[in-house]
Amino acid sequence: MQYKQVTLPAAKSIALVAHDNKKPDIVRWCEKHKTDLANHTLYATGTTGTVIHKATGLNINRLISGPLGGDQQVGALITEGKVDFLIFFWDPFEPMPHDPDVKALLRIAAVWNIPVACNPISADFMVASPLFNGEFTRNVPDYEGYMKSRT
Ligand code: PGA
Repeated sequence: MQYKQVTLPAAKSIALVAHDNKKPDIVRWCEKHKTDLANHTLYATGTTGTVIHKATGLNINRLISGPLGGDQQVGALITEGKVDFLIFFWDPFEPMPHDPDVKALLRIAAVWNIPVACNPISADFMVASPLFNGEFTRNVPDYEGYMKSRT
């Protein structure tokens, strides 16, 4: 795979997803970092977005609920370059009916080289980074080059 560089602006698009047992964690985390989060465009799967909005008042673009396809919507937004940061508190103790979607979302986040935090401590470290509220450059798959090599 060939890569090209893209520069992300200071104001980024962040997707927030939490499984049911992890929703209290993501709500606490969003309350703690509300001021920083307000500088960015926020997306969330349906229920996660609703509980965060209720608790914090943050403006969130709500997608479909995860088990109904919301994780796949987040994945599609990543491939389109419309989400460049993922906070995904998945539950390591419960089997999920949409486990293939969970795996697919984590895979697509790795493919597109976006920062991913799967627990509050990692997410705390990310917010503490100067890159969180600044510009940064990342490598992404070079889709045009990829297509040329296949056609
Ligand atoms: P939810 O989806 O925010 O609608 O609960 C999250 C998930 O289970 O992937």
